[in-house]
Amino acid sequence: MSRDRLQLDPIACDAHRLCAELLPERIGLDDWGYPLLADGGELPAELVAHARRAAAACPTLALRLRRRPAAREDRRSTTAQQQ
Ligand code: SF4
Repeated sequence: MSRDRLQLDPIACDAHRLCAELLPERIGLDDWGYPLLADGGELPAELVAHARRAAAACPTLALRLRRRPAAREDRRSTTAQQQ
């Protein structure tokens, strides 16, 4: 999985369904046409570019791509290497 993940603001979403058409691998629809994110929005690295396109196409900005901060161990090992 990548450090990027999809986040959905259900209040802002108007059920346009566009995101599910652009990223059917990770976004399904409920009975009312609202998106359902697979694995809580987690993304495999190979789908990040598609997810970015789907988020950019959302007319209400309800779908966002967020990057998780690096894990603590990563930062510690980077800091240790710099010293
Ligand atoms: S494109 Fe945006 S508004 Fe439309 S269903 Fe997806 S998240 Fe909701």
